[in-house]
Formats: sequence, C-alpha cells, structure tokens
Amino acid sequence: MQLIGNYINGELVQPVSEKFLENFDPATGQVYSKVPDSDERDVERAVEAARDAFPAWSRLSADQRSRTLLKIADLIEQNIEQFAIAECIDSGKPLSRARTLEIPRAVTNFRFFATAILHAKSELHASAGEAYNYTLRRPRGVAGIISPWNLPLYLLTWKIAPALATGNTVVAKPSEITPMTAHLLAAVCQQAGLPAGVLNIVHGLGPKAGAAIVRHPKVPTVSFTGGTKTGAEIARTAAPMFKRVALEMGGKNPTVVFADADPEQAMAGAVRAAFGNQGQICLCGSRVFVERSIYSDFVEGFVANTKRLTVGDPLEQATDQGALVSAAQLDKVESYVALARDEGGKIHCGGRRPRPISERCTAGYFFEPTVITGLDMTSRVNREEIFGPVVTLMPFHDEDDAVELANATDYGLSASVWTRDLARAHRLAERIEAGTVWINCWLLRDLRVPFGGMKQSGVGREGGDDSLHFFTEPKNVCFEVAR
Ligand code: NAD
Repeated sequence: MQLIGNYINGELVQPVSEKFLENFDPATGQVYSKVPDSDERDVERAVEAARDAFPAWSRLSADQRSRTLLKIADLIEQNIEQFAIAECIDSGKPLSRARTLEIPRAVTNFRFFATAILHAKSELHASAGEAYNYTLRRPRGVAGIISPWNLPLYLLTWKIAPALATGNTVVAKPSEITPMTAHLLAAVCQQAGLPAGVLNIVHGLGPKAGAAIVRHPKVPTVSFTGGTKTGAEIARTAAPMFKRVALEMGGKNPTVVFADADPEQAMAGAVRAAFGNQGQICLCGSRVFVERSIYSDFVEGFVANTKRLTVGDPLEQATDQGALVSAAQLDKVESYVALARDEGGKIHCGGRRPRPISERCTAGYFFEPTVITGLDMTSRVNREEIFGPVVTLMPFHDEDDAVELANATDYGLSASVWTRDLARAHRLAERIEAGTVWINCWLLRDLRVPFGGMKQSGVGREGGDDSLHFFTEPKNVCFEVAR
C-alpha cells in the first residue's frame, strides 16, 4: 500500500496527526493508497515554508524561474506513462485519455506560463511635459490553490504554473479523491531543483486542510476550482479578509444543434461533449437542444452513437467510458436518473450500472452512458449539475427559444452551437450566457484566452494575461519630469 506524503519545504513528510485517508481505485473499488488527513498544523508549516521561500524566489529573474519550470515540464513529459497510470488509477478515467490529453496538457501549462513571463510587456505613459507613469507587477506572496478530482493534474498545474512563474510561492491542496499525480509532481519538483518551500502540497479533506488554507491570514490569494457550494463557502471566508479570489465552479452546459448543422459533425460533437471523461468535465454539454424539424432523427442517432460507447476497464485501450470517480458520485448520478424516471422522463439507453465488465472491475463504480428525453427546464435533472454520464435532449422552435432554454439555469460556464449559418452563430455567441461559446466544435482551447464562467459558474478569469495579472499586484509609479 503506497503512503502519500505532504510536500512541505522540499521534503515529503507525514501529516502531523499521523492520520491517513483511504484512496480508492474507482475501477476496482479497492483501497490502493493512503492520503494524509492533514489539518491546520500541516497548513501552518506549509505556509511558513512558502513565506520563507518567497523573498529569494520572487527576486529571481523571470529567466531563472522559467528554466526551472521548463525542467518540470520536461520531467513530467519524460514520465508521462507513470503520470497517466496514476491519474487513471486515481480517477477511473481511461488510460488512453490521461496519456494523450490530460497529462500532456499539464506539461503545456508549465511550458506556456514559463515562456509567457519572458514576453510580459509593460507600458510607459508619458503625460506630456509633466510625468512618466508606468505599472510594476509584483508577485503577491503565498498563493493558496485548491483543485478538484476530475482533471487532477491539469487543473492543479493550470494554477500552480502561473503562480510560480510570476514569483509567488504556493500552498496547494489537490482533491483528496485523486492525490497521486500531485504526489508525483512533488518528486518531479525535487528532481528539477525547485527550491525548497516554493511549492508546498498539503493533502487532505476540504473542510479541514482546504479551509485552513483559505482562512490563513498569510495567504492573500486563493485560486479555487470545484463545486459551486464549496466556492460560496470559500467566498464567505475570503471576502471579509479582502483576499483576491478566483472561483471556477460548476456547469450545466447547453449544446445547441440547428437543422442546418453538418449532421455528422454535430452528432459526433454532441456525443463527445456529453460523455467526455464519463461526463465529469465542468465543460461537458449535458443539455442538448435540437431544432424541432430534425429532433426525432437526431435523438435516434444520438442514442445509437451512445450505445456504441464501450464502458470498460480504464486500463484497456478500447475503453471509451471508464469508472466514475467514487461510490458517492455513482450514487449521486443514480439518484438523478431515478428522479428523471419519477418525473416521467424517457430513458433511451443506459440508466443503470453495467453488468460486471471484468473480474478485476467487479466492484468498480461504473455507470452506463444515459440518454433521457421528455423533461422540460422545470426539472431538477435539467437545472442541477449531475457531473456524470447523463444527458437530456429537448427540442426547440427557433433561435429565441434556443437562447431562452440555453440560459435557463443558474450556471454559465460554456456552450456549443452547431450551425452553418455564420451570422446566427455570432448572434448566439453574444446572447448565450457563458464564459466560452464554441461554434461547431467543443473543448478546443487556447491558453491565452480568459477562461471562466458567468453566473454561478465562476468569479474572475484565469488563463494567459488574466492569470499573470491575477497572481500579481499592479503598482503605479509616477516620475515627475525634471523641468
Ligand atoms: P469540490 O468543491 O467538492 O472540491 C474541490 C476542492 O475543494 C477539493 O480539493 C476539496 O477538498 C476542496 N474543498 C472542499 N470543501 C472545502 C472547503 N470548505 N474549503 C476549502 N476547500 C474545500 O468539487 P469536486 O467534487 O472535487 O469537483 C467537481 C466540481 O468541480 C464540479 O462542480 C465541476 O463542475 C467543478 N469544476 C469546475 C471547473 C471550472 O473550470 N469551472 C473545472 C473542473 C471542475
């Protein structure tokens, strides 16, 4: 049984309490490692180490910091198989997905921000004959970073990389459900020569270890990705302390298909958006709205395509759909399908746990991809984030109707629109309340664009310059011009 350690001041250490939590492999339902059950004493040590490391790290040149971060990127890349297996066993997602998509994107996060700081620009404003004004951007100190289980290494590094690149030091808490890639990242940081205390990783439960980071008076910056309820709690703690906070939260994203869309592309895109990572991506399109004239054919095709998805052992190359992340998540998904049945929804496929898919996976947390119709937007199934392989389809009459349905939730993270009418695509992009609107595609993303959500999906934006700005404090300097 592997014992995961906290990474504090450059070393892997046990939690002060010496208590550990069980870490389950979702594909087998078996405990395969133990995670520190850290508390505020561990957080205190981590914050102290990060504060001690801050002066030297923040004084390094951008070039020096960049080189270390690029080494970290190289080392993750060289060990991609080890990281991918760890992510697969931690989260139940297909190994092929971890190997080709998610770990490579973590590498990209480090490379992107390690090089972005080399190109940071600053402007000087000359108030003619009077003064020169410019803005310095300084790192803010210790950044608290809290991340979820669905894309464990990708989302953690999406925040760690810009925080470190801009000269902050970090205390990070990965999800207690998927700690293994963060554990491997600690070893990589040691190997890359990242100075002790620059990055600290404290494992453990949200309300205990996570909350201790959020309320720590010496952590002025908090970047969080996770559920909306947790985000609200973090906001309640951080607001009266005047911390700078970024909250990336839940989604209930619409996929809108018009009759003039390329039928094959729209179908493939909508199915992929619905079930990517077993529907456990904040950007998944879990509500599919289809123009009435093609609705019944589209439902038929969508169900046929969904049935072709292979639910299987995440370690197998042929697997499209692995396990859900935890028994609790499986129960939650099942409860929404039961609710859909009670409310008169029609379950076209899925809606249950599959028969055991192999001897190894008998006790795993698998659920068949599920397609539901017949529910309107008053249903909780259509309003609340399920975060699993469950999608609903609904018809719409016209453009106004599509926009109204798309906007009829408290969330506003992303949307995808499928049409060959370019003017309509632009109109919908303006009218749909979402931080990102994809036109005839899904999940494509350039790290330079500001990423985040509207309404209850988020506060603030991260990515590109937004991340560099989030982790730095602007200071205006004004020189009077000598007369
Ligand atoms: P979660 O909110 O339960 O947990 C996220 C992290 O917060 C974990 O590390 C957890 O331990 C910690 N946490 C929990 N309670 C805390 C507290 N009181 N104080 C401080 N930290 C606390 O979310 P989850 O179940 O791990 O992840 C799924 C959610 O994340 C979904 O809602 C999904 O939409 C969202 N998500 C959003 C984005 C985005 O970019 N908007 C990306 C991925 C996931």
